[in-house]
Order: sequence, then structure tokens, then C-alpha cells
Amino acid sequence: MGKLEGKVAVITGAASGMGAATARLFVSEGARVLVTDMNETKGQEVAEELGPNGEFKKVDVSREEDVATAVDQVISNWGQLDVIFNNAGFGGARGPIESISEDDFDLTVDVLLKGVFFGMKHAAPVMKQQGSGSIISTASVAGLQAGESPHLYTATKAAVIHLTKSVALELGQQGIRVNAICPGVVATPLAHGPLDEERRQKFRDRFGRHQPIGRVGETDDIAQAALFLASDDSTFITGTAMVVDGGAYAGRPWHRQSELMTGQGPIKLYRPEGR
Ligand code: NAD
Repeated sequence: MGKLEGKVAVITGAASGMGAATARLFVSEGARVLVTDMNETKGQEVAEELGPNGEFKKVDVSREEDVATAVDQVISNWGQLDVIFNNAGFGGARGPIESISEDDFDLTVDVLLKGVFFGMKHAAPVMKQQGSGSIISTASVAGLQAGESPHLYTATKAAVIHLTKSVALELGQQGIRVNAICPGVVATPLAHGPLDEERRQKFRDRFGRHQPIGRVGETDDIAQAALFLASDDSTFITGTAMVVDGGAYAGRPWHRQSELMTGQGPIKLYRPEGR
């Protein structure tokens, strides 16, 4: 029996990357999934691949009405909503602070923060009525540590983590768990752009070297974390920001520490005077 047997999920940004991988894994574990995305062609393809347990709906997460109708659709078609995975995203505004226009600020916040807020807002009443549910949102290690991503990406992902904690405190007693996932570098079009397989491999090689675990993340690494948070394996876990990053947020990889120490002679035990 699958870990999500009989459950119903909505996944945003499910036409590509982590969202698509999660949709595939959820269905293979017994769930019915509403694949949602702005990209209609790719979203339809993913839903068709899922067979009778997958459906597609075009949703722009920055539009409240789109998110609300996605929740309504699963309720009218499947009668319940057990999991919402607020995952849609893009890189957002880039560049020095003075170069960011108000329009680009608004778009970045609308997609990366408001989109998550709408998912939580519209899933909560349905889940409250059921007395159960799991709300999962994709944040990023960029939300924990500055310097890895553009300003507004970093700021909105930090906000997603805090919103997760705050809403978890509200909904915990009603059987609803609210968690975030903080991926590190994962090989998806968002991270490397639209590349052919050879250049994707080059991306993996280049960034993999800088990860403590020696490789970049793959979409299945994130899908497995989402499965854990969606399933009854994690019923005591709420309000967390689960880091899934090959150790990058823990600190500088060991080989880079050694490189920095080169020229300082062999590393010796530090002995306080007199010992
Ligand atoms: P991806 O580009 O493969 O997938 C993102 C999907 O979101 C796309 O299908 C896109 O069409 C969709 N989307 C974008 N804006 C949307 C909107 N307004 N409404 C609905 N759908 C929209 O990228 P991914 O890496 O799988 O990204 C998934 C999530 O992971 C994002 O929230 C991203 O910020 C986050 N993330 C990615 C990485 C990484 O290294 N790839 C690291 C940390 C966090």
C-alpha cells in the first residue's frame, strides 16, 4: 500500500522540476493529484503521464481566484484536500538594489510570497472542516542565508519560512500541519535555464563540487522530502523548514576548508599554554 493511498493533493508549479517530480511520486504512492501551473502545455503533459489519478488546471499562483478555484475543483471532483504543495516559483528580480523597479518587486513578491499565502489561505478552511491536512511550501536555503540568490528571492523565501511557522501555530490544534522545504541547488530549469543534456551535466559537475555531499540536488530529492511531510510518517512534525541541500547550509565543504588552510602548515591540535 502506498504512503498516500486515498489522499488528494494540489501541487503548484507542477509542470516542471520539483513540482512535476513530486506529482509523479505522489501518484505512485496512491494519491490523486491536481497538477497546476501557468504553463498549460507542459502541465497537461505531466497530468496525462499520471493517468486517471492526475488532472491539470491552469493556475497563476499570483491570482487569488486561480488558487481558490483549484481548491474548489479538487473538492467538487474528489471530495477532499489532504495536501497542498505551494511550490511554484521563478528567480524574480535581479541586480543591485537601486536597479529593481517597483513592478519587478511586485511580481516577485506576488509569485513567491503571495502565491504561497493564497495556497495556505484557501486550503485551510477545507482542511479545518476535515480536521486534517498537510500544507507544504517550497522555500529555499536562500531564505536562511543571504548571499546565494537575488535580494528579493532571498527576502521572499525567508518570509515563506516565517509564514509557515506562524500559520503552523494557528492550525496545529485543528489537525493541520504546515511545513516548508528549503532546497539547496537542484538541477532544474530554474537553476540552470533551458539547457541540453550535455550542458546540464556541466552544470551538475560545476556546482556539485561545491556541495559537501559532492553533487547537486535532483528533483527526486525534494519529492521524497515532500512525500515525507505529506504522509502520516510525519504526524508530529509542523512549523519546520526542512533543509534538503546536500549539507550546503551546514557550512563550507571540508575540501574548501583545507584549501583555505593551505600554506599554514600542517593542522595541529591547539594546546593552551601550560598543557
Ligand atoms: P522549475 O522552473 O523547474 O519549476 C517551476 C514551475 O513554476 C514552472 O513550471 C513554472 O511554469 C511555474 N511557475 C512560475 N511562476 C508561476 C506562477 N505565477 N503560477 C504558477 N506557476 C508558476 O523550477 P524548480 O526549481 O522546480 O522550482 C520549484 C520551487 O523550488 C520554486 O519555488 C523555487 O523557488 C524553489 N527552489 C529551487 C531551487 C533550485 O535550485 N532549483 C532551490 C531552492 C528553491
